[in-house]
Amino acid sequence: MMIEKKYTLKFSGSNLHESVSYVLVSKFNIIPNVLRAKIDGSGGRMILSMKGSEKDITDAIAHLTSVGIEVETMDNYVKRDENRCIDCGSCLSLCPTFAFELNTETYDIMLDTKKCVACGFCLSACPTHAITLKMTL
Ligand code: SF4
Ligand code: SF4
Repeated sequence: MMIEKKYTLKFSGSNLHESVSYVLVSKFNIIPNVLRAKIDGSGGRMILSMKGSEKDITDAIAHLTSVGIEVETMDNYVKRDENRCIDCGSCLSLCPTFAFELNTETYDIMLDTKKCVACGFCLSACPTHAITLKMTL
């Protein structure tokens, strides 16, 4: 069964030679999608979506880790303090991945954390500082 998951990859200068997308496709049968990246000669970070079987993704992560790339799952990368959220909707239109959605019955603003790509736009838009990110690129 194919699954799709998002990860953050942290590179140091010494492992920048590794062409991640090429390796994932050719060695692990993964369909990669680079969602965001900020990398220079000394290293950097990438947010990468991987589509493939659970085993292939597990093997691919083991390989990336073995060459010194730090891989972390993006689950729960963005967090919202529900006690602070006033459902104002300011975050809704700013999110490039449509992670926020209006519940048309309750008028609550729902957040699907799995859609987040850590851009940080919603942080500055939120009047009550209800949203936090583990890290921005
Ligand atoms: S950080 Fe960016 S992608 Fe993530 S929920 Fe906020 S606006 Fe959406
Ligand atoms: S901007 Fe903040 S307070 Fe307003 S709906 Fe989004 S998370 Fe809630």
